Amino acid sequence: MKATVFHGPRNVRVESVPDAAISLPTDALVRITAAAICGSDLHVYHARTQAVPGFVLGHEGVGIVEEVGRGVSTLKRGQRVVVAGSVACGNCFYCRQGQVSQCEASGGAVFGYGPNFAGKLGDIGGAQSEALCVPMADYTCYPLPDAIDDEAAVFLADMLPTGFFGALNGDIRPGNTVAVFGCGPVGLCAVMAAGLFGTAEVIAVDTIPYRLELARKLGATPVNAPDAMELILGRTGGRGADVVIEAVGHESALHAAMAAVRPGGTVSAVGVFSEPSFNFPIGLAFIRDLTFRVGLANLRSNIPQLARLVESGRLDPRPIISHRLALDNAPHGYRIFDARTDNALKVLLKP
Ligand SMILES: [Zn+2]
Ligand SMILES: [Zn+2]
Repeated sequence: MKATVFHGPRNVRVESVPDAAISLPTDALVRITAAAICGSDLHVYHARTQAVPGFVLGHEGVGIVEEVGRGVSTLKRGQRVVVAGSVACGNCFYCRQGQVSQCEASGGAVFGYGPNFAGKLGDIGGAQSEALCVPMADYTCYPLPDAIDDEAAVFLADMLPTGFFGALNGDIRPGNTVAVFGCGPVGLCAVMAAGLFGTAEVIAVDTIPYRLELARKLGATPVNAPDAMELILGRTGGRGADVVIEAVGHESALHAAMAAVRPGGTVSAVGVFSEPSFNFPIGLAFIRDLTFRVGLANLRSNIPQLARLVESGRLDPRPIISHRLALDNAPHGYRIFDARTDNALKVLLKP
């Protein structure tokens, strides 16, 4: 089968790899019909992770179940599913409380980052390919209603649950002013998710005009980053935002978020931090009575409620899609998303 393989810094190729196949009774083989490139794939692309080259990329995929192991009880051949970006059993201590990113059975395995990030499961492949073998398939796959098309469904694999996780961790209350730092796909999903909690205003901060324009279309007040502090203070009686969602994953953005939140407010970080440590403004957080939340988003546990919101039309992430490419063109997709050229935002790949 064809798949997108990581070969080293800025070197991604679509090539033939061994066909994905079921190996355990709890596996399902999913024929991928749509996949997406994620901002976190760029951490691999830049070789900022411990990923060893030679694996298939992608953790955002939608497809059709082609075969199920004999231990799979809820999925049928021919069923459309979204595959959650991280594998979870649905039954362990953490999964039972919705904290599926810490699943004990999978070890927090994530698709598309090679064996170093596959927890207890070994190399589990990636979604930017023609097919994917999904472990613990009864829970990791989520069956899709016909009303959710592939282009909306691919956001359920990671983007929407991650944006929602950021909003949940922000503990947003009705009437709050929420600032979202970073208007990449996750930040834009956080803009939409924040709105679910009855915000008075969502202020979207970035430096790239086309991303800010999309934030505006999604209902946010856009602001160029250098002007953000002044605008946020001006909208909040000089106090700062009640909640700031950090969707960049960078020290400077985190510092800006900590400065822009009001005393007693919450900073919720959903950007991917690949550095093991950096300078944290603990003195500022102490004096201003701040709450800081961070974590790897729980994907599968939040899919059912988000799917209902997509199905009802309350959430529509499809405006975030900027490109629809054939799987063969994945290297081009990585290049434009990385370089932020061609107004690239969410790049879909269709095998
Ligand atoms: Zn992702
Ligand atoms: Zn589990």
